[in-house]
Amino acid sequence: MSEEFLKLLSASQRTLDEGFSHLPPNPAPSLGEAASAILQRVAERLHDNYPYAHPLYAGQMLKPPHPIARAAYSLAMSINPNNHALDGGRASSAMEVEAVAAVAKMFDWPQHLGHLSSGGTFANLEALWVAGQLVPGKAIAASDQAHYTHSRISTVLGLPFVTVPSDATGRMDLTALEHLLATENIGTVVVTLGTTAIGSVDPLDQILALRKKFSFRIHVDAAYGGYFTLAANLSPKTRSAFDAIPHADSIVIDPHKHGLQPYGCGCILFRDPAVGRFYKHDSPYTYFSSKDLHLGEISLECSRAGASAVALWATQQLLPYTPGGAFAQGLESGRNAALNLYERLTKSAHFVTPSAPPQLDIVFWTPSASTPDASSALAEAIFDETAKNDLHLALAQLPTRFFSRDKWENLAISDQKSTVTCLRSVLMKPEHLLWLDHIWQRLYAAAVKVSTVNTSIEPA
Ligand SMILES: *Cc1c(COP(=O)(O)O)cnc(C)c1O
Repeated sequence: MSEEFLKLLSASQRTLDEGFSHLPPNPAPSLGEAASAILQRVAERLHDNYPYAHPLYAGQMLKPPHPIARAAYSLAMSINPNNHALDGGRASSAMEVEAVAAVAKMFDWPQHLGHLSSGGTFANLEALWVAGQLVPGKAIAASDQAHYTHSRISTVLGLPFVTVPSDATGRMDLTALEHLLATENIGTVVVTLGTTAIGSVDPLDQILALRKKFSFRIHVDAAYGGYFTLAANLSPKTRSAFDAIPHADSIVIDPHKHGLQPYGCGCILFRDPAVGRFYKHDSPYTYFSSKDLHLGEISLECSRAGASAVALWATQQLLPYTPGGAFAQGLESGRNAALNLYERLTKSAHFVTPSAPPQLDIVFWTPSASTPDASSALAEAIFDETAKNDLHLALAQLPTRFFSRDKWENLAISDQKSTVTCLRSVLMKPEHLLWLDHIWQRLYAAAVKVSTVNTSIEPA
């Protein structure tokens, strides 16, 4: 933790406290000697973690919150506002409204109804709940690469769920979707812009075109990928999908994934503010201080951390959502790192890569071997070996159909349903690009160590 951070925090805390200094003093009780010992133990217990904030952590979808988010969150915690009602947090509710409007503006939505949530799961639950209220009993459809939460949420809501197959690049298969729209009673299609496993982007623009023939609602799950709409280095196909977002009915984005926020910050937006009517409820004890909208009147969750809204608002002031700005450049940098790693992997005889480059900033690959089972065993060995050398990757069980069939000897057509253990790297941190040589050297050394492939002529 830097000196600068603590200094900024204590100066702003003083200003905050001054606002309440007219009250009779009510000093906080001393923490006592035990507190120091307990916090030391906490610090030691927290060593039992991967070093998520370091660029050599290049595994799962984990990105450290920005220091300004941490500082603003801590500051707000001394008030601990509850954004359920204006009675519980006036300033933080106003900041939530502004922060959510900034997210809507990023997607070029001229109007919206929306709010923050505890995360992407709850935001998606609200989107599908509203969808179910509009067309009761009709099915939710999502691709086999969509987050598993959608089928589970459909069960919670008592709505039928239909799985749409994905193609070899992990995008929703349009022909399959069209067939399902013609034969099943589908009310809502969940379009994932940035799947959790491989960052694939469903062709939203082409799915929208199907609305000329069929009537259905479109919910965009951009919990992971939403912020990439600001990136200038997407492929034309991916760009077209993001550019179609203004025509969707609802969208979910997770500021706690790519938006530099601590956990507990998802966001749901509806294009038609009139869906607010479904949230209507009477509470005999909640809303008294104002006739203005209380966020609890348009949210399924009741108590929510106002500190999340304050942290998001502060981060947006420092790093606004402008194309070409510092925040957008951070996303572009991670994507360049992913393309760079993919290229190195593709050139190396040690590894097997999918036929298409990453669509966002997630890369997956598997070690070269004669069969998928042998590749899987090597993937696990490399995962362990790189970890010993402080490079942390992730493992993922992915369909062999994501790779071309000639990557393994004798892979029969029937095996195309099979899976292979892959190494996976989510290059979410802007610094990953600068650290790519280090990452590659450690990965390469691990591959050489566990490999049986003779690549002695290959340059490292
Ligand atoms: C992470 C994710 C979710 C779930 O969001 P949480 O914030 O983890 O609850 C849903 N959909 C997609 C595409 C995701 O990446």
